Amino acid sequence: MKKVYIETMGCQMNKSDTERMLGMLSYLDYEETKNPEQADLLIVNTCSIRQLSEDKAFSQLGVWGKWKQEKPALKIGIAGCVAQQKAQSIFKRAHYVDFVLGTHKIYALPEIIEKINRGEKVCECTETNSTEDDLAVKYGIKRVKGVNAWIPITEGCNNFCTYCIVPYTRGRERSRLPETILKEAKDALNAGFKEITLLGQNVDSYGKDFKDRDYRLADLLRELNKVEGKFRIRFVTSYPTDITDELIKTVVELDKVCEYFHIPMQSGSSEVLKAMNRRYDRETYARIVKKVRDMVPDVTITSDFIAGFPGETEEQFQQTLSAIDEFELDYSNLAAYSPREKTVAAKWVDKFIPEDVKDERFQRLNKKVQENCLKSNLKYVGREMEVLIENFYEHKGKMINTGKTRNFKTVHIPCDKDLTGEFVNVKITGAKTWYLQGEIK
Ligand code: SF4
Repeated sequence: MKKVYIETMGCQMNKSDTERMLGMLSYLDYEETKNPEQADLLIVNTCSIRQLSEDKAFSQLGVWGKWKQEKPALKIGIAGCVAQQKAQSIFKRAHYVDFVLGTHKIYALPEIIEKINRGEKVCECTETNSTEDDLAVKYGIKRVKGVNAWIPITEGCNNFCTYCIVPYTRGRERSRLPETILKEAKDALNAGFKEITLLGQNVDSYGKDFKDRDYRLADLLRELNKVEGKFRIRFVTSYPTDITDELIKTVVELDKVCEYFHIPMQSGSSEVLKAMNRRYDRETYARIVKKVRDMVPDVTITSDFIAGFPGETEEQFQQTLSAIDEFELDYSNLAAYSPREKTVAAKWVDKFIPEDVKDERFQRLNKKVQENCLKSNLKYVGREMEVLIENFYEHKGKMINTGKTRNFKTVHIPCDKDLTGEFVNVKITGAKTWYLQGEIK
């Protein structure tokens, strides 16, 4: 068998694409290696959300290009969002690359491998309006071993937030068919996975594009919840105004669906939200979060924020700080604004915030997120919670199991036995900024 090494950058969607590529490649007699120096085929699966990740991808290619001088049979490919965006031009920048594979046609990989083995250079970055579910089923998926299976249910996005490159790299929103999603979920559960996370840039708009049926995320959750056995269901990411009452009710009613929503706010200022082309203001976001909290007991709500969006004033930035407090957000991912080619905001050069100001705002946001995270964790001390164990490792001479509660809190549990994949009842004995401490009941 030949060996393939894939370097995966960026989000869960890319990790899921890597699992699909490994599935197809195993069908072509390639086995995965964790050591790139042993590989016959090297692929970098790229992210273009920030300039830094793009630079990292090209520097990785540069190293591999040098290896190819010593080993001319080595094949090198680039996939993911940078590939989709830069297409043919990659061959000019990195002449040793054999193929460029965009995000729309990862299922063309077997054909591409055949062509590059005949000595051709291939660029496959055409956009499609469909998902190619039948091929995913045919080739299978090589999931990274663990307890959580990530299953994409939508691809792309129609929202065109002014800072975001996703609609340009992943295309318009397309929903996968429920029957293929359910098959993939059942296969993962039969293979021993204990948690299914339904994935999409905008997961709550699942099914909006179906012409032949009225079938939405709540329907999919109901069908998945009926599958026999003990397991958990999650879904990410939720666009605030797409969260329907029906969806929230479904989360409350279904025993396997966990009490967790990831609802990116991006800024606490209504003016900045407007400039970002987000379709809500601060008050609307507040109403949605309140409704979710009122209806779903013990729910964890996490968010995303950008520091230093073009034109953001100190006062507007402070509204972001106050939003984290006011909406009691349990955790937030943070990013300093990074202009991306093709996006609207990237053209507002005269409004760019100086790097040092952006960094300083990022640090203040980070501090605020940490304070709120600890506050949120402290609420659970003394409670008994069910934890799904995900990892087992040694720390300072002690063996630790770590896992997640239903509401996505990480818990560290000292215990000599490896309980990975098990559901255990745990008494929460302490709280740190990023995790809870617990002991098995
Ligand atoms: S909703 Fe906005 S931020 Fe999210 S993927 Fe779509 S365009 Fe990007």
